[in-house]
Amino acid sequence: MSVVDTLARLIAFPTVSTEPVVALAGYVAERCEAAGFRVERFVAPGEGKLNLVCSKGPRGTDGIVLSGHMDVVPTVGQPWSSDPFRLTERGSRLVGRGTADMKGFIAATIEALARLPTLERELVLVWTCDEEVGCLGSKDLVPKLADRPLPRLCVIGEPTSFRILRMHPGHTAVRILCGGKAAHSSKPDLGDNAITKAARVIDRLEGLAADWRRDVRFAELLERPFVVMNVATIQGGSAINIVPDHCVLEVGFRPLPGMVVEDLVRQLRERIGDLGAVELRRETPAMLTAAGGELEGLLRPDASAPGTGAASFATDGGNFAALGMESLVFGPGSIDVAHMADEYVDGGELHRAVDVVTGLVSRRCGQR
Ligand SMILES: [Zn+2]
Repeated sequence: MSVVDTLARLIAFPTVSTEPVVALAGYVAERCEAAGFRVERFVAPGEGKLNLVCSKGPRGTDGIVLSGHMDVVPTVGQPWSSDPFRLTERGSRLVGRGTADMKGFIAATIEALARLPTLERELVLVWTCDEEVGCLGSKDLVPKLADRPLPRLCVIGEPTSFRILRMHPGHTAVRILCGGKAAHSSKPDLGDNAITKAARVIDRLEGLAADWRRDVRFAELLERPFVVMNVATIQGGSAINIVPDHCVLEVGFRPLPGMVVEDLVRQLRERIGDLGAVELRRETPAMLTAAGGELEGLLRPDASAPGTGAASFATDGGNFAALGMESLVFGPGSIDVAHMADEYVDGGELHRAVDVVTGLVSRRCGQR
């Protein structure tokens, strides 16, 4: 099978995060087993959800981890010019949902398995689910791997056009509930309007976001070197003639490495005061790996740009840090086309990815 055929197989599984990933995982496991890998399956919350850990070579020998997510973002409402779940060649472009983000890397890795030398150090492949909805798969997996010796170095094969990215902000989601008192709209003074209260909350959040913008960090790596905030959704009220007694806001913000999320949530609570109750909904950790490390040296010959950068998106690498893993984000395809209609990976880049993975693993885990 060629890497393009393998990618076509992977794309044909419509593993949008709301759907089961078990069929794709079964295929990936089968391919890894055929290459002599041990496959461990870790069931994750939700129907048909699981993470895979596939390994080869002597355990506990500190080789390398290669990781990617098996889920993709939805295609609904996007103007695709072909079936997103059928790989379509258009010139040098291989078009399909997940070609860049990030089944291309999974396909390249699977293809490289047959070319590897005898492994003197362990190669561990970690394929996760539910990454696109907040790195939930890796979050569930990490405590289950706490007792397993794992290599320290990890490549997250997200689409970076082979640039080396060593940090990214995290993502924290909170829900703010504004309560009130219902009344007939003809007598608003008898009620307490939850929506106008939410408007005051938003005003204060804007003030807090402005304060956060003044706390500049990682200016050499980030385009927006501060905590960014997004007031994402608002829901409230039930009828035109009722004073609303509830309004719910969903707010996301992106903590930088080294920041304590609880501190930021506390600041948010203090700013809002008794206008609303703040509930912490989800937390995806930031990632920071020191520059000039061993893995960076291993990737350098294949890097498309000098130096290192930052990703604006979160990855599983943030969760993996709890296992002592040092991750770099590095892979084929461009993030600019990920999540879009007619997402693609360049065919040449995909073939190169097979060589890159083969070379990287050979240098780290092969005979020395
Ligand atoms: Zn991704």
